[in-house]
Amino acid sequence: MKRAHHILKSVFGYERFRHHQADIIEALINGHDVLTLMPTGGGKSICYQIPALVRKGTGIVVSPLIALMQDQVDAMNQLGIRAAFLNSTLSVAEQREIELLLRAGELDILYLAPERLLSPSTLSLLEFTPIALFAIDEAHCVSQWGHDFRKEYQQLSILHERFPAVPRIALTATADARTRSEIIEQLALGQASVFVNSFDRPNIHYAINESGNSRDELWSFLTENHAQDAGIIYCQTRKGVDTIAQWLSKKGRIALPYHAGLNQAVRQNNQQRFLREDSLIIVATIAFGMGIDKPDVRFVAHMNLPKNIEAYYQETGRAGRDGRPADAWMSYGLRDVVGLRLFTENSDAEEKFKRMMHQKTDAMLGLCELTSCRRIALLGYFGEYIDQPCGNCDNCINPPETWDATVATQKALSCVYRTGERYGAQYVIDVLGGKSNERIENNKHDKLSTFNIGHEHTAVEWRGIFRQLIAHGFLATDAEGYGVLKLTQKSWPLLKRSVTPQTVMLRKLRKAKSKKKNVSASASDLTAQDQQLFEQLRTLRAQLAKAQNVPPYVIFPDKTLTEMAIVKPHTQGQMLDISGVGQSKLERYGQAFLNEINNPI
Ligand code: ADP
Ligand code: ZN
Repeated sequence: MKRAHHILKSVFGYERFRHHQADIIEALINGHDVLTLMPTGGGKSICYQIPALVRKGTGIVVSPLIALMQDQVDAMNQLGIRAAFLNSTLSVAEQREIELLLRAGELDILYLAPERLLSPSTLSLLEFTPIALFAIDEAHCVSQWGHDFRKEYQQLSILHERFPAVPRIALTATADARTRSEIIEQLALGQASVFVNSFDRPNIHYAINESGNSRDELWSFLTENHAQDAGIIYCQTRKGVDTIAQWLSKKGRIALPYHAGLNQAVRQNNQQRFLREDSLIIVATIAFGMGIDKPDVRFVAHMNLPKNIEAYYQETGRAGRDGRPADAWMSYGLRDVVGLRLFTENSDAEEKFKRMMHQKTDAMLGLCELTSCRRIALLGYFGEYIDQPCGNCDNCINPPETWDATVATQKALSCVYRTGERYGAQYVIDVLGGKSNERIENNKHDKLSTFNIGHEHTAVEWRGIFRQLIAHGFLATDAEGYGVLKLTQKSWPLLKRSVTPQTVMLRKLRKAKSKKKNVSASASDLTAQDQQLFEQLRTLRAQLAKAQNVPPYVIFPDKTLTEMAIVKPHTQGQMLDISGVGQSKLERYGQAFLNEINNPI
């Protein structure tokens, strides 16, 4: 472990291990298997990088993210670690060269895609190579319930059979218990030490808005909070992606689309620009983002409801990996709620699977309609309990008001009943509001007792009421897929007033913006003068990055630049004291940054 501490300081430039890093590293050095569950940005990579350097032989890292291997290897080479990858993007000659390096024991770390690792030729190549460890990154890909499922991952237990003496570490940022047990089972990790970190991401501010016009809301969210920041905007459909990207571009932001309908070259180019440039927005379907390890994504915005809390947490988790304040922002409305319910209803999955989907939908909608701390609910969903409201979500900062909606609910349910459970929300709202049109007249619904009994609420308010009634299960949508509203078991006690009266509390539409507190020190805490120096250092970093065609954060993360701008080191020794500056980076960049700091313009 002494060696491990020394490497942490001299290679990575960090003083202390975080969370369970030290225990994990010790277990691996001693030859034990490990399963690590840590949120994004928790510091997973060091957990296998350091033992790979301490133990004899090469550390083999299995990762499904071929597109990211180049950046990962670049980042390691910058630290002076001898890393490489083998995948289909390399020419045959390049692959040969790396195989030779591996055989000669010249590699500390080698990245492989699972299909490559499982090929007979690779497996026999590894038989003749000393191996320090196997790291199985993104281990949740073994789970066939998740949307990142990779069938090759289920064959990775072969590593245990063919190389029983080599310790393995499986890593994931997916928190739920089901996935955890699947990983243990599929990868034969029954004997592994399991390290579970808190999944809280305290620097992320969660906000979920129920809104009529999400585009306007998005625009004010962006201009007020992220006028110059990089971020991701998720939309449900490809068309939505294209529209929002074009609209933002017209408004003067650099916004690029990303979805499966674009050709590979365009997608790759857009992703690359997102990683390399500052202030760029990616508008994407969920096809984007797995393993995007850009640390300075300042916001993730959802223009629609994610399908479940797992997806929501994974997608929002791409914000703020560097630990600095970041936003998870969502806007959803009645249509989204109906859409998600329909999606669950219409799936042709078997009954057991469908029941599970219903539960997940309920939990997602419950989170949206919640009036208390979002973080308590989110973490609770993953089995983690905190007893204090977080103070960094919309509900904590600007508690929503509720109102007694029992009478409105009775009117709504009764109107659904009297119109024969054959119409969608808009029609029922028209009847309630006494809005006559041809269809309503033809159906003689203007003669119903419920016609015009809801005029005390506007149509917008009724949409909010129906959204919440569907979300809470007082109304269901039909299975045929037209959004027709049906009564549920939960409706009847309210319709038959003879039963013990029940109160329905709903939330009021929130008008005021939620004011955020800054939770941690960040670049914005710099004095004006330090801020200027910080900008200069950022420019220098951009030049150095561009010259080598690597992402800027591979040179130094923002955190390191901020510390340099505050501390203003004069000597190489002082430079080494800055967090994130190790020996290799000091040699490469120390002088350039010292010059910039000591000769400001
Ligand atoms: P993950 O893979 O878990 O999302 P990373 O391994 O990319 O996270 O680490 C996130 C960031 O935290 C990186 O910039 C990394 O260098 C930094 N980091 C990791 N461990 C430490 C530590 N012990 N002290 C300071 N920074 C750390
Ligand atoms: Zn909270």
